[in-house]
Amino acid sequence: MNAIDIIARKRDGYALTAAEIDFFIQGYTAGDIPDYQAAAWCMAVLLRGMTSEEVTELTLSIARSGQMLDLSDVAPLVADKHSTGGVGDKVTLALGPMVAAAGQPMGKMSGRGLGFSGGTLDKLESIPGWSSRLTIAAFKRQLAEIGLVVAGQTSDLAPADGKLYALRDVTATVPSLPLIASSVMSKKLASGANVILLDVKVGEGAFMRTLPEAEALARIMVKIGTQAGRRVVARVTDMSQPLGLAVGNALEVKEAIATLKGEGPADFTQLIVEDAGLLLHLCGCIPAAVDSNAIALRTLHDGSALNKFRQFVVAQGGDPAVVDDPDGVLPRAPVIHTLTSPQSGWLAAVNARTFGEVTVQLGGGRSKKEDTIDRSVGVVLRAKIGDRVETGQPLCDIHACSETEALAAAERLLAAYLWSAAPVEPPILVKQTIYP
Ligand code: URA
Repeated sequence: MNAIDIIARKRDGYALTAAEIDFFIQGYTAGDIPDYQAAAWCMAVLLRGMTSEEVTELTLSIARSGQMLDLSDVAPLVADKHSTGGVGDKVTLALGPMVAAAGQPMGKMSGRGLGFSGGTLDKLESIPGWSSRLTIAAFKRQLAEIGLVVAGQTSDLAPADGKLYALRDVTATVPSLPLIASSVMSKKLASGANVILLDVKVGEGAFMRTLPEAEALARIMVKIGTQAGRRVVARVTDMSQPLGLAVGNALEVKEAIATLKGEGPADFTQLIVEDAGLLLHLCGCIPAAVDSNAIALRTLHDGSALNKFRQFVVAQGGDPAVVDDPDGVLPRAPVIHTLTSPQSGWLAAVNARTFGEVTVQLGGGRSKKEDTIDRSVGVVLRAKIGDRVETGQPLCDIHACSETEALAAAERLLAAYLWSAAPVEPPILVKQTIYP
C-alpha cells in the first residue's frame, strides 16, 4: 500500500477500504506521509465525497490516532457539544459554564479558527495565560474538580485531526461533508463524552450553505456517534448572519462574559439556554417534569455560570480579572471605526461570511498554517436582520490595528448588507433538531 495509490483511487472516485484509510491517517500522523500528499488527498475527498462506511472508518481512524479517553472513573456521564463552525459562534464559552454550573460535567476538545469561521481555542487564548495544552491526567483532574474543561488536540487526543484541521484551513478543503463529520466526531469519540450535542450551522456563514446539506451532515454525525454507543442529538441552526453581535476573538470573549452576566444579545442567549436545557435533559440530570431551559436560564441569573467560568479560567492558567474587567484585561485594537448606513430601510441581509472573511483580513484569522493572529480585531454589529435603520445610523464598529485596515474592512462590509423597503422577519434560529 502507498499514499500515491490511495490518493489516485480517491481522485478517480473509488471507495477506499478501512485499511487504506487507516494507512493514510496513521501515516500522516506519524509524519511518514507529508503535508502535500495529505492536501491532495483532502482535495480528492472534497471533490469525490465518501460513502457513509468510509466516513465512519475515517472517523474511527482519526480518533484512534491518539488515546481514546475513558472518563467513567471521573463521572457517570460527561457532556460535550460541538459546532461545525460559524461566525460569531462563541457558544462553548457560555454553554460550558452553564451546564457545569447546573451540575453536569462537561469535557471538551476544541479547535482553532478554520477559514472564515472562528475557533474556540483562539478565542479563549485572548485571556492572558489561558492554555489549552493539557495532559490527559490534567484534563481528568479538572473535569473531576470543577466539572468543566476545554482542551486542544494534543499528541494524546486525536492528533490526526489537529494536523488535518490546520492543513484544511489553508488548502481550501474545509467545506467537505466527510472531512467535517470525521473531524468533529473523531474529537468527540476520543475525548470520551457520552452525551453529545451537535450544532450544525447552516447559511452563508457556515460550511454547509443549504438546509439539505446541513441536514445530511447532522444525520451522518448522529449516526456515527450512535453507532459508537454515544447519546447524540444535532440541532441545525441559522448562520445567515453572525450569531450575537461580536465577531473576533477577544470581542467574542467579552460578549460571552456579558452573556454570563445576563446581559447578552437575545439570539445568542436563546441558543445557549436551549442548548444547555437540551444537554441537561439528555444527561437525565433533571427530572422529566422540570423545565430544563428554566434551570439553564437560572445559572445566568444567579451568577453560578459566571462563577463557573471564573473557576475554569483559573484552572487553565488564565487571568480571572477578565471576568470583572474584560476591557482592562483583553487585548484591544487601537482603532475603532463605525460604519454607518448609507440608506434607510429594514435590514434584509447581514452576510455572516463577509464578517468572518473581514475578521481574517483584519488579522483575526489565519491565511497560512504558521500565521499568528491578532486577537484584538474584529467587528461588533449594531443592527441585525429585521432591524430598522435610518441613513447615517451605525451598522457596526470595526476594531482594527490601523485606519487603513479599518477603511478597507468598511468597504467590504458594506457589501454584506441589503436593505428592504418593507419590514423583514429575522431568520428562524433553530431550523431542525435531529435525534438518532
Ligand atoms: N469543526 C471541526 O471540528 N472540524 C471541522 O472540520 C469543521 C468544524
